[in-house]
Parts: sequence; structure tokens; C-alpha cells
Amino acid sequence: MPENICINCKKYLEKIRKYIDLKENEVDTLTKPRRTLMFSFPVPMDDGETKIFTGYRVQFNDARGPTKGGIRFHPDADLEEIRTLAFLMALKCAVVNIPFGGAKGGVIVDPKKLSKNELEHLSRAYIREIFKFIGPDRDIPAPDVNTTPQIMAWMMDEYEKIKQANAPGVITGKPIELRGSKLRDIATSLGGAFILREFMKAKKLKPEETTIAIQGIGNAGGNVAKILSEWGYKIVAISDSKNGIYNEKGLDIKKVLSYKKEKGNLIGIDEKEVSNKELLELDVGVLIPAALGDQITKDNADDIKAKIILELANGPTTPEADTILDKNNVEVIPDILANAGGVVVSYFEWVQNSMNYYWEEDEVKEKLEKIMINATKEFEVNCASYKCNMRDALHILAINKILAAEKLRGIH
Ligand code: GLU
Repeated sequence: MPENICINCKKYLEKIRKYIDLKENEVDTLTKPRRTLMFSFPVPMDDGETKIFTGYRVQFNDARGPTKGGIRFHPDADLEEIRTLAFLMALKCAVVNIPFGGAKGGVIVDPKKLSKNELEHLSRAYIREIFKFIGPDRDIPAPDVNTTPQIMAWMMDEYEKIKQANAPGVITGKPIELRGSKLRDIATSLGGAFILREFMKAKKLKPEETTIAIQGIGNAGGNVAKILSEWGYKIVAISDSKNGIYNEKGLDIKKVLSYKKEKGNLIGIDEKEVSNKELLELDVGVLIPAALGDQITKDNADDIKAKIILELANGPTTPEADTILDKNNVEVIPDILANAGGVVVSYFEWVQNSMNYYWEEDEVKEKLEKIMINATKEFEVNCASYKCNMRDALHILAINKILAAEKLRGIH
């Protein structure tokens, strides 16, 4: 039997072991998820047939609170990826000081190939598989790649039906009409934009002089393009999974977003075409990977020309690529800080659900900004004292917090 262990997490830990000592049981705590669920489950299709899907939910660490993290629907979802992402969620929640541990879930499926009806059946069936292990005080799922507020609504409804109870706090990222939080839809992007703004301020770099390339035009990529262009940054390139567009004078983001909304892709738009690979290698001020993981690898890291990378996606840079980027003096603002705005507003949603009292947009925005800025200040101290890059500094900060909580609970 293979061990319940996360291989990538070991790689991350190796990088920080030169700065902090970790005992064997601490390494085990940080590489072996507390619970790994893997299941096959039937879903009725529109043609009357039943299809069997594979699903996962990994609850990595709950020392700091109930586990928290999204569910992705993707044809390439796999257990090692989900484990790594669950580990990163535990770190992310520690970095922004919200009282959660880390989890992640997924289903191997291409949701674009399902009808709305089939998608609903799949979402509800997934919850029936994991309902015993989740709950507002145990594990709280949320949206991730290809999962939407509508899917969260079906999932919450299924859970409430099984439990015969009102339990909105079981899941976050719900629609506003169903006890979601204001701004949750753009929270990942807004949080990332706050982080970039602070970073650029410290470097005395002006928005209008900063060119940006964004890989991805989904929830994270599309919204960050909108926010940053409204703040005066020059977005010169953006892409979806099929292709990208480039205009060195700056794209009209409003036009691009409405084209994408109307046509479903960027094909035929009146701008120069670039491939996703070319987009990553453009000579821009800031590169924002906002799509899938493993985009910057040892094969293309040397070709990256941007000097700043804001990781809005989860795990877009492999540990091997990180070493190369470091050598080339590329500053990477890591995922667990850059995209933490999503889970921060998820936390706000969960708090509002438990109070049954809902905040206005301004209040959510102000609270998010405060948390993101405080997190930046906290880890900068680590960067200075360990003289390491931002990823290592954030990982040290988060891991120390998780281990402190474990110690207080009795793991010595
Ligand atoms: N899927 C998002 C993330 O990776 C949000 C998770 C959440 O809100 O729980 O951070």
C-alpha cells in the first residue's frame, strides 16, 4: 500500500530546512494529510446512462481550525495535486491569520462537456460522498477551478437536505441571494491587486509605467485585469486556455472582457495573437499567472523576462523553476499570499453565516485590505531576518504558526 504522503510538500520543506530545524514528527505532520478521501461515484446522465466519476477530498491539517479549501472540476485533477493544494491552503490560512486549516477537493471531469442538469447531479452526488466529513466546524469547501457560485448553491442545498438543518456555513462562495458574501466573486483578484499595489509602492514603481501580462481570463484573471486597468496599470496581454492576445500599447480590457463573455473565447478579436507559452515569456513589468498550476517549470523559467511575478493561480511555479527564477533575480509574490483574498472573504462569508448578519460591500473591502496589508508586513520581517526569497519567508512563517498550534495541542 502506498503511504498517505504528499511528495511535493516534501520538496517545499526541503527548501526551508536550511533556515529552520524540523523534527521528524514535524516533517510527518507537514507531509502526511490528516485525512484523504478518494471515491468513485455514479451520476445519472441525460441520455439515461449512468457514468462513474472519481472524486477526492484531502483534509491536510486542522491544528489552527476547521479545514478550508476549494473543490476543482478538471479532467487532469489528481490526488498528488489535490494533496499539494490542500497543504498550500493550510499555509495560506496561516499567512493571512484566519482560523482555518487546509483542505482541497476535486473531481476528474470536464464540466464543459456536461449539461446543466448533469452538472447539478454531479455536484450533489459529490456532497453525498463527503457529507459525513464536512460541516461548518469541520471542513468547509468553496469554489476553485471550474466551480461556481451556482455549484456551491447546489452543494449547500444537498448538505442541508441530508442534515435536515440550516447550515449555510458548510460551504462558501455561495451566491449573494443564498447567504454569500458581498465581494466574494472578485475577492481573489482584489486581494492580489492590493498586494501588488503595496509591492509597487515600496519599489516606487508607478501603475501607468507598469506593463502587465495575465495568463487566464477566468474569475481570477478576468477580474484582476479589470481592477488593475481601472487603477491605471497597462495590461498588454491576456489569454484563455486556447490562445492569448497582445498589444504593447495596452489592451482595452472592457472590450476584451465583453468579447470573451459574448463569444466564449478570444479568437477573431482585432489584436495580435500570442500563444500561452509566448505570453509567459513577454518582456513586461509584471507577469500574472492566473490559470492552472505548473506553468513556469524548469523548461521555461530561464525564458521569463518579467522581473515581478504575482501568482494568482495556485502553484503556477514548480519548486525547480523557483530556483532558476531566484538565480535570475525575478521576484515572485507567492500564491499563498497573492491569491489569499479568496479565502479571506470566504472566512468573512462563514462569519456572516454564523452571525446571520450581513456586511455591506465597503465593510468587506476595508476588512480584506487590512488583512492583506497586515500579512504583507508580517512576512517582510521574516524575509529580512532569514535573507531568503518571499516564498521561503512565507512558508517559514506559515509552518511556524501551524507547528505552534500543533505543539499547544500536544504534539511534541
Ligand atoms: N479555491 C480558493 C483558493 O485556492 C478559495 C478557497 C476558499 O475560499 O476556501 O484559495
